[in-house]
Amino acid sequence: MNNPIVISAKSAEQFGQQVVSWYHLQGRKHLPWQQDKTPYRVWISEIMLQQTQVATVIPYYQRFMESFPTITDLANADEDVVLHHWTGLGYYARARNLHKSAKIMLNDYDGHFPIEIEQVIALPGIGRSTAGAILSLSLKQYHPILDGNVKRVLARSYLVEGYNGLSKFDKALWQLSEKLTPAIETDSFNQAMMDLGATVCTRSKPSCDICPVEQSCLAKAGDQQMNFPQKKPKKKIPEKQTIMVIPRLKNENCDKVLMEKRPPVGIWGGLWCFHEVDELSEINDLMTSLSLKEISSQTLTEFRHTFSHFHLDITPVVVDCQQLEVSKINEPNQQKWYDLHQGLSVGLAASTQKLLTLLRDC
Ligand code: SF4
Repeated sequence: MNNPIVISAKSAEQFGQQVVSWYHLQGRKHLPWQQDKTPYRVWISEIMLQQTQVATVIPYYQRFMESFPTITDLANADEDVVLHHWTGLGYYARARNLHKSAKIMLNDYDGHFPIEIEQVIALPGIGRSTAGAILSLSLKQYHPILDGNVKRVLARSYLVEGYNGLSKFDKALWQLSEKLTPAIETDSFNQAMMDLGATVCTRSKPSCDICPVEQSCLAKAGDQQMNFPQKKPKKKIPEKQTIMVIPRLKNENCDKVLMEKRPPVGIWGGLWCFHEVDELSEINDLMTSLSLKEISSQTLTEFRHTFSHFHLDITPVVVDCQQLEVSKINEPNQQKWYDLHQGLSVGLAASTQKLLTLLRDC
């Protein structure tokens, strides 16, 4: 159990000064979202950067801002187009929440980003740390933050026991962050703490010799860097199976596969995927319901897609077919014939993308 950590005002101030000075010398200042900082631009970057590396985010961020330069543009965009811009980044709930939040801002805040932290936290998909980061980085407001990188720096610096997600651990770290965050240059401090965790105090290879808080770091002093934070106890992830059915119309003039849009909630919510069945024997009924006649079918090699809470083993079955009644698949919002050589501006699940790549070659 973590007792509140006692830090004198002087050492807190010193910690803040060391981190801010490091930021001025070494911190990252040239990333696209660090130019022309507005709450909207910082918000998009903070959400994209959750669970995703900076180098991966940059091209996504640039495309996103080109297509949706303002909150109003994002709010008025079609959900498929927003999800299309997210294809490949994963954790699609982030994109759906951005879209929902933009609509709220358009309706309730006249298309502006709210500037009170309570209002920001009330938006879908924005927690206390992200809200604090957006308002401090873009508007220089005073708010402590605590993302995964900051947690690692603090847990090591003050030997805070526990692991991410354990409420006592998070509570102790929030108290620390509140004590250490300076009221002046909060933006530089917060940016530096995130950068330190991402580039210096890394999970498996902390570079203590170039760290600005090396002198006061308790983990470094006791050579205990790798013991903090502790690892979250592992749960066995369940395994599930599914069969993905890929109806295909293929001749000299056409090479199309049928996809359906997933319901807005649940896995791959709002994304375009192939139809699923539990048993091979159900494919016939599915084809009948779609007014399609099977000519031949081919089972492709099974592959695994891992979600945070389960593994999904996918068996793809390509069914070459004829269309019996065109009108049956004439619901462009729910089902589409996807031209393998032209593509579509819609959001695709990673497994769908993988199958589309395979299908182009077979
Ligand atoms: Fe992390 Fe090492 Fe810096 Fe301590 S001294 S905060 S362990 S990089």
